[in-house]
Amino acid sequence: MAKVYNWQLGREMEYPYAGGDRERQFAAVFNINRCIACQTCTMACKSTWTHYPGQELMFWNNVETKPYGGYPRSWDAKLLEMQETLDPGGQNWAGTGQADVRSPYGRFDGKTIFETANGTSERVTGYLPDDDEWKAPNNGEDHGTKMGPDGAKLPVHQGWFFYLQRICNHCSYPACLAACPRNAIYKRKEDGIVLIDQERCRGYRKCVAACPYKKSMYRPTTRTSEKCIACYPRIEGQDPISDGVPMETRCMASCIGKIRMQGLVQVEADATWTHDPRNPIYYMVHVEKVALPLYPQFGTQPNIYYIPPRWAPREYLRQMFGPGVDAAIEKYANPSRELLALLQLFRATREVIFAFDVIPGPVAQTLNVGGRSRTIYDDTVVGYDAKGREVARVKVVEPVVTRPGSINSI
Ligand code: SF4
Ligand code: SF4
Repeated sequence: MAKVYNWQLGREMEYPYAGGDRERQFAAVFNINRCIACQTCTMACKSTWTHYPGQELMFWNNVETKPYGGYPRSWDAKLLEMQETLDPGGQNWAGTGQADVRSPYGRFDGKTIFETANGTSERVTGYLPDDDEWKAPNNGEDHGTKMGPDGAKLPVHQGWFFYLQRICNHCSYPACLAACPRNAIYKRKEDGIVLIDQERCRGYRKCVAACPYKKSMYRPTTRTSEKCIACYPRIEGQDPISDGVPMETRCMASCIGKIRMQGLVQVEADATWTHDPRNPIYYMVHVEKVALPLYPQFGTQPNIYYIPPRWAPREYLRQMFGPGVDAAIEKYANPSRELLALLQLFRATREVIFAFDVIPGPVAQTLNVGGRSRTIYDDTVVGYDAKGREVARVKVVEPVVTRPGSINSI
């Protein structure tokens, strides 16, 4: 095992391979608060990549309902239990505060899925879901917890559920890659996308067992494993409609709820992100710290970040997104001018946004939110593509256009 630096854990950790020579990393922010579970993203992906024989139950993108939903069934609860059994009492962030300055979340001293596998015949702790667990992608959909007499009141609802949008995290330290005995899985230098070489794969399913997010899937008709490819022709700027610049993936570009923003961040040799506050993803993850990784304690350094839901119990969310949850929700509920403006840029264009600017505008409204006075400004946010060209311009206050009665049908 090599020693690599995991900035989400605030420490070095063991991983089968030394760090890579990456230049950029595919990453995204999903705002859970906005998702309506329309599954448009799911179907955009499925109709593009996984509609062939043997892929019937393969969903590279899925949206599940927490706490009861999961695809495959109970994927996260099962691994959390395994980790707790192998590292009793260790799976917490008790060391918060002593972290390396490069970590925004504190320090996780518990064992990752690579470290709990030490001394076993496997490189990664995991499990292979059985066929029954893959059968129902919408298992538990829209099932909430029991509603109490006070019902829905912030800060935490008594009856609650939320939607969790899931794709492959194109992890900085992929468990699928670590576990593959054929070296069939690789991570690209130019964008950090993780791919399975279909020629080398022999379908041993080690990656399926190892991926903590269960985003590598077995296809019985080809006897190989397959996974999300991050729509890489789009990321490479090969899609004819994007004029040679990186373009958002199918699931991101089709999002009805405008919950998704995708980006590419510059990375250093130790897989930390190069300081770049004009990059929208960097800004939300490292400056505002409003978007958090999913189960960072597993240790793969996942690259899809979530703005956590305001209304779900904090303890549940801390286990899922780490100790940054309370501060992230506070930021989202009381956003800075820059963050409020940036949130309007989600799904404003199909090109990947590499930089943004906020142009100050006049006062639009003064509100009283939870006893606090807040001023909303009608600022303008501008997004730029890979070539520095303006590709989106949105105002905080959505313009209202009233049609003249003469053009209304009766
Ligand atoms: S398309 Fe967007 S809003 Fe609809 S389910 Fe997917 S992430 Fe949620
Ligand atoms: S989410 Fe799973 S399949 Fe995707 S890179 Fe990480 S370990 Fe591999």
